[in-house]
Amino acid sequence: MSQQGYVAAPPYSQAQPGMGSYQGGFGAAPAQPLYGHYGGPPQAFSSPPAGVMKSPASSPGGMPPPPVSSQYNPNVQQNGAHPQRLASPSAAPPTYGQPSQSVYNSMASPAPPPAQQLTNQMSAMNLGGYAPGAMQSPPPPATSSIAQQRFQTPPAATGHPQMHSAPLSSHMAPPISPPQSPITNMQGSGPPMGGQSMTGPPMGGQSMTGPLMGGHSMTGPPMGGQSMGGPPMGGQSMGGPPMGGQSMAGPPMGGQSMAGPPMGGQSMAGPPMGGQSMAGPPMGGQSMAGPPMGGQSMAGPPMGGPGSFQQPGSGPAGLEGYPQQAGQFGGLMSGPQPGMQGGFPGAPGGLSGPPQKKLDPDSIPSITQVIEDDKARLGGQVYSTNIRGQVPPLVTTDFTVQDQGNASPRFMRCTTYTLPCTAELAKQCQVPLASIIKPFAKMPKNEAPLYVANHGETGPIRCNRCKAYMCPYMQFIDGGRRYQCTFCNCVNEVPAFYFQHLDHMGRRVDFYERPELSLGSYEFVATLDYCKNNKPPHPPAYIFMIDVSYTNIKSGLVKLICDELKTLLEKLPREDGAETSAIKVGFVTYNKVLHFYNVKSALAQPQMMVVSDTAEMFVPLLDGFLVNYQDSRAVIYNLLDQIPDMFADTNESETVFAPVIQAGVEAFKAAECSGKLFIFHSSMPTAEAPGKLKNRDDKKLVNTDKEKTLFQPQKGVYEQLSKDCVAQGCCVDLFLFPSQYLDLATMGDVPSHTGGSIYKYNNFQQVETDGEHFLRDLRKDVQKSLGFDAVMRVRTSTGFRATDFFGGVYMNNTTDVEMAAVDCDKAVTVEFKHDDTLSEETGALIQCALLYTTISGQRRLRIHNLSLNCTSQLSELYKSCETDSLINFFAKSAYHAILNQPVKNVRDILVNQTAHMLACYRKNCASPSAASQLILPDSMKVFPVYMNSLMKTAPLVGSTELSTDDRAHQRLSVMAMGVEDTQLQLYPRLIPLHNIDVSSEAVPAPIRCSAERLTDAGMFLLENGHSIFLWLGQACPPDVIQNLFNAPSLAHLQQGHMFSLPELDNPLSKKVRSIISELLDKRPNSMKLLIVRQKDKPEMLFRQFLVEDKGLHGGACYMDFLCYVHREIRQLLT
Ligand SMILES: [Zn+2]
Repeated sequence: MSQQGYVAAPPYSQAQPGMGSYQGGFGAAPAQPLYGHYGGPPQAFSSPPAGVMKSPASSPGGMPPPPVSSQYNPNVQQNGAHPQRLASPSAAPPTYGQPSQSVYNSMASPAPPPAQQLTNQMSAMNLGGYAPGAMQSPPPPATSSIAQQRFQTPPAATGHPQMHSAPLSSHMAPPISPPQSPITNMQGSGPPMGGQSMTGPPMGGQSMTGPLMGGHSMTGPPMGGQSMGGPPMGGQSMGGPPMGGQSMAGPPMGGQSMAGPPMGGQSMAGPPMGGQSMAGPPMGGQSMAGPPMGGQSMAGPPMGGPGSFQQPGSGPAGLEGYPQQAGQFGGLMSGPQPGMQGGFPGAPGGLSGPPQKKLDPDSIPSITQVIEDDKARLGGQVYSTNIRGQVPPLVTTDFTVQDQGNASPRFMRCTTYTLPCTAELAKQCQVPLASIIKPFAKMPKNEAPLYVANHGETGPIRCNRCKAYMCPYMQFIDGGRRYQCTFCNCVNEVPAFYFQHLDHMGRRVDFYERPELSLGSYEFVATLDYCKNNKPPHPPAYIFMIDVSYTNIKSGLVKLICDELKTLLEKLPREDGAETSAIKVGFVTYNKVLHFYNVKSALAQPQMMVVSDTAEMFVPLLDGFLVNYQDSRAVIYNLLDQIPDMFADTNESETVFAPVIQAGVEAFKAAECSGKLFIFHSSMPTAEAPGKLKNRDDKKLVNTDKEKTLFQPQKGVYEQLSKDCVAQGCCVDLFLFPSQYLDLATMGDVPSHTGGSIYKYNNFQQVETDGEHFLRDLRKDVQKSLGFDAVMRVRTSTGFRATDFFGGVYMNNTTDVEMAAVDCDKAVTVEFKHDDTLSEETGALIQCALLYTTISGQRRLRIHNLSLNCTSQLSELYKSCETDSLINFFAKSAYHAILNQPVKNVRDILVNQTAHMLACYRKNCASPSAASQLILPDSMKVFPVYMNSLMKTAPLVGSTELSTDDRAHQRLSVMAMGVEDTQLQLYPRLIPLHNIDVSSEAVPAPIRCSAERLTDAGMFLLENGHSIFLWLGQACPPDVIQNLFNAPSLAHLQQGHMFSLPELDNPLSKKVRSIISELLDKRPNSMKLLIVRQKDKPEMLFRQFLVEDKGLHGGACYMDFLCYVHREIRQLLT
């Protein structure tokens, strides 16, 4: 369905704004960044901003000191009935959150002190390693050519359409062997690399990852361990001349078709590196990965340790080596490089291949470390939202939120909490400005539910001009008789009933009694003006629609669903304090025709009505179709018992699909309510009816310009259906049980535009092995808290505005985000653009207002407010970036973009934007240092590993080995995800279990997602929110196997052991099962457990999630990617 009003994300759809101006931007003298703390109260807090903010207390972000305690006035009630006190802020530990305190200051300003440099040692690697493979199999992305186009051509030529991968210059033949670049990491205090001195700590918050050598010169001393205790190595010399002119282009993706982009090596005009020696002993135990120089000799002593050199050709031995699978999918990391000699003309003749070295994997920024550091710093603490532009703890950290005027990060997160003042600055850095909004995010029990304000018959107070809702940012003036809207500056009269005096600080005396004056998030009771046809809505309804065709009957699925519904219907969501759910229920079964059931409580038996005219769908009964479960329980039980038997002898294998959804919409229309359809379906709808589909799967389209059609839904019927569904507030949840292709891109179209979820259980044949997995999803889904018939509007203060929306939404115009329903796990990612200049003093405000119908049928407005800082210093912007949010934005915008352009272009753009963002930082914010060093902003030091992982995901990787439906499914799932889910999806948790302390409550800290971290005698759990694996090393001790499986050894594990752990009464079994079940509870989706033995075939399924390694279906390992990005950065800077 086309989304009118959508403006595709600029990087993909229009001339990239930053592109053309890039050079100009870089040409400008770099502004010297200011490193003053910014987490503390900026000026705006200490004194009332002139004009707008009269009260210091209510300055944009700075919330006043906590009230002692106050009770809301009677017309304020808390969600759930009983009025309660607003949790008194004073109750919170004064630990931090107060502007004057420093804990958050330190948070806001990048963590570890000033210059956080990666504690790493120098190492090097051979980029050429992936090249040969790329030749053989999937061709590498032509990133470089794009990069050059984007960055070197005039703006006009940089729009996406021309971003083809045509080789930049014909002389670049693709013998791939990109020059390699060593990465060196040094510590702030470390010795200068190769003779350069690095004085002083790098600026606040930046991380330095070693020098990418300028060419191939290996500079730098392999620093020893992180601590750099030792003397710098010889650091010194090494300074090979950067190779001039080299065009290193090789993109890190293994897998694509080498269309011609210049891969590395080709024109390597630079001086040959040969002969360089790498001196310097590796320091203490660390491994110094040798320089990958093409052909240079490595004089240094081989280091021991994990990162030690691997000689070419020696091949990785065992699991710990570089991913073994590499050979199958494109290029081993080690091994002679065929292209090498040609690529490096000057290389020493006898070079049989560059020494292959592995970089010490610990030397590059680690996501697990970043997560653990944040947990250690902020875990378990109270996060008060009283500071404008404050960067919250990571999504992976547990913390308690105290709302003091800004929405909790559970509801809204931003890619950066400090916006650039001008569009020009925004273009220059290319950091996307976006907010990820999860309006119904779950809140932990220790955080108060949202308060509900009621402004009576007139409805919520809003600005006359921009319609923003009353919020803590409004400035009361004129003795309280008027207020100035902080969004549009319009001065409004205060309605008589709302009048209140101001205190000596200019603040209303009822400040703490009204949630809309003191909190970041709250609700308003909506009046009839906010209801369809000015009538209060009816409570929503759930309709369960079961495909009873042959396959589903035979697999036992129909019986499974019917049995489960009997208990599940008791657990429909209900308002806090309500005895029963107000949600009505209805039942339909179908194959080629639809069967409706009358389950009116007065009936002794349910009655079936068949509708066989699927072209003109109507609902044959009104009374008795949608009922209250409590009233009709007996009849419903009866029906659920009968359904499996009624169709037990069916031979019907054809199904319809669109008419099923249509029936649901018609039922809601007739009942004048909104609601949700739960559709359980297993095959492509091929029966003659509207929305009939045919197999259009075509793997030949993969990696061509037409690949996008695989992701595009079929137009027509489904497009109209989405529209009808959204208009009626009909959300569609789809549970699919396919045994083959069923055109998920089309079947998932309606769910993905109505706020619904799509679940997919491939080859669901056995209730025993797959049943529980599906039922866990169904239970979670049915019980989710959610709102129906929703419209979201995002307002901003002047100077910028929301331009693009990514999520399970429908847009009829450019501003109203419509969702038939929105549940606690769904998030909308909103991108902002400047339309004027922002002020550092007043900052920027975002107000998200969501109008919706509650589960009991009340119309409400949920408001989330967030205030951000603004700056004219790029360094401030980078400091306030949040990588997890950036990644969510990039994932969604890229997945949206592949609907319109080749995946390869999209990958190239991702790489380029990564390089561009980091280059801009380097240019404008970092302290001077050798060009050979990769310097990353502290807030984004793990950004590259996420971006690399994103490019290796199924939708973006372009591999014929992947199922088209699976790719479409992942695409649609991610589009609706919040930050927490995209983080986990792109960097799974890999948890070592072999040394687990069974007596401790704690779950072991996750380790890096790389095969190098696995051990033969180990046992690891890996989960990414959709899959969960228990990996057993081949040398796993027999007692462990005995305790977990009650089997004497790994070899004794049978098929039946591979999907669940038996319930055994010993501490290890209990501990492992409890960790697994805790994870299953925590995630929005159920995950099917798969137990894999090292070297068994299914291990491949597990390995694809080791995202730091080379991708199974293409895509570089983390190290290669980092080197590549570094190279791009250097190119941009020269
Ligand atoms: Zn206004």
